[in-house]
Amino acid sequence: SDFVSLEGLTLAYGNTVAVEALNLSIARGELVSLLGPSGCGKTTTMRAIAGLMTPRAGRISIDGRDVTRLPPSRREVGLVFQSYALFPHLSVYENIAFGLRLRGEAGLDARVRDGLATVGLDAFADRAPRDLSGGQQQRVALARSLVMQPKVLLLDEPLSNLDARLRLDMRMELQRVQKETGITMVFVTHDQSEALALSDRIVLMNGGAIEQVGTPEQIYSAP
Ligand code: ADP
Ligand code: ADP
Repeated sequence: SDFVSLEGLTLAYGNTVAVEALNLSIARGELVSLLGPSGCGKTTTMRAIAGLMTPRAGRISIDGRDVTRLPPSRREVGLVFQSYALFPHLSVYENIAFGLRLRGEAGLDARVRDGLATVGLDAFADRAPRDLSGGQQQRVALARSLVMQPKVLLLDEPLSNLDARLRLDMRMELQRVQKETGITMVFVTHDQSEALALSDRIVLMNGGAIEQVGTPEQIYSAP
């Protein structure tokens, strides 16, 4: 059960240690939430997994490969952040195709169509992002990551810009996509109900360390 493994990970900004000696194992196909108050180190941990930050100490491996020193582009990690920044001048189709084109990947059209279908936007391929709702744009961002077939998809508060009803819809959508694709997901939130509703396991963080790891039932059942 060691598809993603963080071992003794210490992450710092100058003199500020944001995460200290963190250990975490994630199984293939698992949806794990990092839950905790603002400033506890969730985003910093995600950055390190993505390769956007070099650890002060420790090791990160994905699917049996030590990626600690690899650049982001070689880690096979996808990112969906709260500001999803689609290319405004490109159609939905071209937004989803963008990364595949850059890499010169084969079977582009089939993969884009598949991505569109996964997020239920088949009918919107030729639209411009501005003609889509916030939730639909978020789905495009999700499809854009999924078509790259990352080993791990990192989602950092992806629903926090959406209104309450849409958040609930997107929660279910994410869960459905995760079960359908079997992709391993790490999901950052400060919203306890969101973590409870979505996760296979919750990682409770505080002050740059893990306080508790368990299933939602384990974490929220009375002792
Ligand atoms: P979040 O809690 O979602 O990470 P924040 O509001 O804490 O959002 O941070 C927003 C941005 O400011 C991030 O890019 C983060 O790296 C940066 N940031 C956060 N804390 C500090 C800090 N103490 N010094 C400099 N930049 C910071
Ligand atoms: P969270 O995502 O849980 O809100 P972060 O990982 O953004 O927490 O922040 C963890 C700690 O690192 C906080 O103390 C924050 O102020 C600090 N921090 C985050 N980004 C920066 C930055 N760019 N420069 C300096 N300190 C930062």
